[in-house]
Amino acid sequence: MSEDANLMEKIVSLCKRRGFVFPSSEIYGGFAAVYDFGPLGVELENNIKQAWWKTMVHDREDVVGLDSAIFMLPKVWEASGHVSGFSDPLTECKKCHSRHRVDHMLEAVGVFADEKMNQEEVQKIFDENLDKLECPKCKAKDFTPVRKFNLLVQSNLGNFTGDWTKEPVYLRGETCQGIYVNYKNVLDSMHVKVPFGIAQIGKAFRNEITARQFIFRTREFEQMEMQYFVHPDDAMKYYDQWKERRMQFYVDLGIKPENLQWHKHENLVFYAKEAYDIEYNYPFGWKELEGVHARGDYDLTQHAEHSKQKLEYMDQEKNEKYVPHVVETSAGVARTLLAVLCEAYNEEEVEGDTRVVLKLHPKLAPYKIAVLPLSKKDELIEPAREILLGLKKIYNVDFDITQSIGKRYRRQDEIGTPYCITVDFDSLEDKAVTVRDRDTMKQERIAISDLETYFAEKLS
Ligand code: ATP
Repeated sequence: MSEDANLMEKIVSLCKRRGFVFPSSEIYGGFAAVYDFGPLGVELENNIKQAWWKTMVHDREDVVGLDSAIFMLPKVWEASGHVSGFSDPLTECKKCHSRHRVDHMLEAVGVFADEKMNQEEVQKIFDENLDKLECPKCKAKDFTPVRKFNLLVQSNLGNFTGDWTKEPVYLRGETCQGIYVNYKNVLDSMHVKVPFGIAQIGKAFRNEITARQFIFRTREFEQMEMQYFVHPDDAMKYYDQWKERRMQFYVDLGIKPENLQWHKHENLVFYAKEAYDIEYNYPFGWKELEGVHARGDYDLTQHAEHSKQKLEYMDQEKNEKYVPHVVETSAGVARTLLAVLCEAYNEEEVEGDTRVVLKLHPKLAPYKIAVLPLSKKDELIEPAREILLGLKKIYNVDFDITQSIGKRYRRQDEIGTPYCITVDFDSLEDKAVTVRDRDTMKQERIAISDLETYFAEKLS
C-alpha cells in the first residue's frame, strides 16, 4: 500500500474515472451512502465473491450454499433482537443539524462506548466528555440528547393498507438470519452432519447514521457470511480454526499480513463466547473488514422459541440431542474491495513520468489480458481479434484500439490488467506477439500458437 496521505482521494478518483464505482443517482446530484459498481467494479466484486465462495463452499465438503430472500417475516427480526436492539446512539448538532454516531465521536477522543450500553449509560459518558467533543462538521459544541436509533430499513412490501408504518416489513439488516431460519430445511434436505456450515452472499441494508469513507460504510451493501453449526463442546476448537482460515483468505487475495490485524471485542454481548474482528489498515485507520464470532446457541434458541419449532440436532450415532452452537464469519464485499484497491494502488516513476498501477492479484483483476493492435489498420485488427476471441473463451479479455500504445499500457496498468498483448506488423511475418507484464513492464515475444499455454502457466 502506498504511504500517500491523499491515497483515499486518489482511489475515489480512479474508481470513478476508470469505471469501478459511481455515486448512486449521480445525474440527479447523488444519493447519500449508496454507490453503484461500474463495469470494472462489478468484475472485481464478482472475482472477490468467487474467491470467497470457492474457499468457503466448493473447496470444502462440510459447507453448503444458500440464497435466501431479502424480505422475511417481521417476526424473524423480532426473534433475532433487531427490532428492539439493533441501534446506534445518535446525536444532532444544534448548530448545523448534522447527525453523528455518539460512539464514533467518543472513539475519536479515545473514549470507549460499547454496543451493549443503554441510552442512559451512553448519555452519561457523552456528558462526562462533552468538553472534549465537537461537531465533526461545523466544530460547534452544542448537541441534542443521545437517542438510540434503530438501523433496520422498513418497507411497505405486501402492505396495501396505506399505513405501512404500523406493520413494517424490513429489508434484511444482515444475511445470516436467512441462514438460521433455513437451518432445519438444509438439515432435512441435504445429507449434512454436524459440524457443517451454510454460506451465503447477499445484500443487506442499514440506516447508517453517518456514512462516510466512500464504500466502507454504506446503507446498502453486500455481505459474505457463513454460519458453522457445531457441538457445544467443540465450539472453541472450530472457532480457532475458522479464525486462522479467514485471516489467510485475505493474505491469499494479496493483502500484506502487516496490513491486517485482529481486534478482540472486550465487552461481549451476553450470549457470545468470543468475538474478534479482522481489521485492515485503511488510509483512514484500522477498521473492521470481517467479524469472526462464537455466538453460542443464541440464534437457534431464539428462533426455536419464537417459531415454536424444534431446531435441535439429533446425533444418531451418539444418540444425543442438542442445539448446535454457531461459529460465524461475516465479511463485507465492498470493504474487501476497498482493502484490495488500497493494497494494490502504486505510483512509480517511469522515465520522468508517474505510472499509476493497480498491482491486483491476477485472480481479482477485472481483465486478465488486454489485446492491443499497434495500428487500426485491418491487417492488424483481424489477427488481433482472432487472438481476442480465442483467449476470451478462457479469460475476461479487453480489446483496445484507441490512442497511442503508451497511453493504452497506462490505462491497463491503472485498471490492474496483468498482461498486455501487442500485435504489430512483425506479427504478420513471425506469427508472434509482444506480451508485456504489468508489474515488471518487461516484454517478451511469444508465438501466437503458444499463447494459451503461456497464460495457463502465468494465470493458473
Ligand atoms: P461496524 O462496527 O463497522 O458498523 P458491524 O460490526 O456493525 O460493523 P457486522 O454487523 O459485524 O458489522 O457486519 C459484518 C460485516 O459486514 C462487517 O465486518 C463489514 O465488512 C460489513 N458491513 C457491516 N456494515 C456495513 C456497512 N454499513 N457498509 C458496508 N459494509 C458493512
